[in-house]
Amino acid sequence: MAQRRTVQRRSTANQLHWALAADVCALVRRSPGITRAQVARELRISTGTAADLVTKMRRAAVLTEGEPVPHGRGRPTSALTAHPRGPLIIAVEITATGWRMVSAGLDGRLTVVARAPHRGRGPADVLAPIRAAVTAEAGARAGRVRAVSVAAAATVRDGSVVQSSVLDWDRVSLAPLRAPGAALLVANDATCEALAESRRGASRGARAALHLTVLTGVGGGLVLDGAPVLGATGLAMEVGHLPLGDPRALCSCGARGCWDTVLGAGPLAGRLGADDDSPSAVEAAIVRGEPAHRPALATAAASLGRGLAGLINVTDPDVVTLGGLGPLLRSHCPEAFEEALTGGLMRCLREDRPRIAGGELGADAALVGAVETALDEVAGPAGLAAWAGREGSGRNLGA
Ligand SMILES: [Zn+2]
Repeated sequence: MAQRRTVQRRSTANQLHWALAADVCALVRRSPGITRAQVARELRISTGTAADLVTKMRRAAVLTEGEPVPHGRGRPTSALTAHPRGPLIIAVEITATGWRMVSAGLDGRLTVVARAPHRGRGPADVLAPIRAAVTAEAGARAGRVRAVSVAAAATVRDGSVVQSSVLDWDRVSLAPLRAPGAALLVANDATCEALAESRRGASRGARAALHLTVLTGVGGGLVLDGAPVLGATGLAMEVGHLPLGDPRALCSCGARGCWDTVLGAGPLAGRLGADDDSPSAVEAAIVRGEPAHRPALATAAASLGRGLAGLINVTDPDVVTLGGLGPLLRSHCPEAFEEALTGGLMRCLREDRPRIAGGELGADAALVGAVETALDEVAGPAGLAAWAGREGSGRNLGA
């Protein structure tokens, strides 16, 4: 009996250690350059406890401390950083036209590994080169890759792509991107952007952060108290399929009248008479500012404002971030955007409106979000305990 109690106590102490270690990792991600002394203050633990914890995290190859640097009149201090042999995330973004792959350690900083345009749009054409890159990176990192996290321009359900209008995919498994010993996480790109802006971008600190992005179509995400709203199966916030378009227009999703059919680079290219309907080409056309384009842009800006009003009415955000072509449409046609937004808002929200800001993370937003999604697991208490207890590590935080 006494022996069982001892084992229980040791296990509880271990869990507490990892919970605290996960808090330290979260601080290092949120505040690059944070020192051990600052961590102690933030977590309200003694400097002795912090020193002990950091030593154990270093032994477990989780974090390390840089060279001490003089710091004001106090003792020299050093920043905590990801351990050079610590766990890694591979994040992949799959867009309409190409893919990008980055790696990140526990500090969440991105290192670009590879990028390429798609050779074709079929699943095999798209996934084969990404699989090769993932396999090469995971192989070169000798057991350090703990998760492959994918942000896809697609509707994602239960970790699988159920459809992608931009890639013309229907039910595609991303299992080929799995790496040995690593979890495979798949999320919608706009959901990843929403999470990224709420963790490291323009909606930092928001209780309810709404993100709306205009790329090939319209995407969105809602983050409540730091966690993305996913619905029962991951489908939540497919805002491009709100019925804000012409009720007769058939959307590639199978429904009629979707917002995607009237707002996005595709429909805009048509109205601007542009041959290239990629978001970057449409962006360039908007920036050129030809007078003949103004009516089409005003219509798009009004559609954005009207849809945003509806989303604000139903989600009650304190901050809204706009991504993709959103900020450009708003700044080029502010009157059309404002009139539609104000007209669609309930009076109480019109009088006390949430802040609307451009996203701060730009083209990296989806990848940052994919990394954050993976770090929630890998750098959480259970993920860190699993890392320390992995085969052949010979390390344990409690040791
Ligand atoms: Zn649709």
